Amino acid sequence: MIDLHTHSSVSDGSDPPARLAELAAAAGCGAVALTDHDRTDGVAAARARGRQVGVDVVSGCELSCQTGNGTMHLLAYFVEPGQEPLHTELGRLQSSRDDRNRRMADRLAEIGLPVTLEEMEAESAGAGVGRPHVATVLVAKGVVGSVQEAFDRYLAKGRPGYVGKEGLAPARAVAVVRASGGVAVLAHPLTNGSDRAALDRLVAGLAADGLVGLESQYGRYAPAERAELASLAARHGLVATGGSDYHGTYKPDLAVGTGRGDLCVDDHVLVELAARRP
Ligand code: AMP
Ligand code: ZN
Ligand code: FE
Ligand code: FE
Repeated sequence: MIDLHTHSSVSDGSDPPARLAELAAAAGCGAVALTDHDRTDGVAAARARGRQVGVDVVSGCELSCQTGNGTMHLLAYFVEPGQEPLHTELGRLQSSRDDRNRRMADRLAEIGLPVTLEEMEAESAGAGVGRPHVATVLVAKGVVGSVQEAFDRYLAKGRPGYVGKEGLAPARAVAVVRASGGVAVLAHPLTNGSDRAALDRLVAGLAADGLVGLESQYGRYAPAERAELASLAARHGLVATGGSDYHGTYKPDLAVGTGRGDLCVDDHVLVELAARRP
């Protein structure tokens, strides 16, 4: 068993990177990919611990991408920290996140919510601030009862506290990952709506751009959705990948390796991905 989608405290997970290697080992995973949002800073620590506990840590990250009418996440694998040209792009994405966070703090003040930039940064403890941190401050202040409620009422796209951030164009993201020696996979393909014809066109386009995989076994997807995505991947010649999207306490329903208890990604998926390296 493996898990190809996890977040540490380097982005918006609650566990330090080394802990993810421990959790993967405890779950029985032979390999785990650390896929923090727009950062690879946790890979070295996770890998060092992985060696001690017998887990192969795959270097990865989850890239914030922007299309004409929405956002998209692409998972990048096998790009080592510091490797160009991805390293430079990650720096740009982090600046655009910092800029968004300042604007989000202004917006939240405008709508009367008591969250300052300083409080967001304290919650993220040195990592890049993400909306789950903002949501957690709102929970701590009793404004909402849960992180999910904070998203549903204020932070999700279309809600009054939402502020978008600049992302990479998906085709460019795929090209940059490939030029850096890695492979790109479309994360949680059903997250941006359920128009199946549009998804099929999107996947066809990305496959032509050099995408190698589609995340079908996703922690929060139902069995029928996973099966549908696996067949979509097969139709486009893509690897059907999978992972929990573990975030620790920020997404308390998900465990490393097993997701909600029904996830089991086969080791062979990683072999197939590695075979697609440029
Ligand atoms: P950010 O990088 O700040 O845009 O935040 C992205 C994080 O927020 C990811 O971990 C998502 O899973 C989480 N997220 C985004 N939209 C929602 C939503 N509608 N409900 C719950 N979590 C969400
Ligand atoms: Zn996240
Ligand atoms: Fe994501
Ligand atoms: Fe994620």
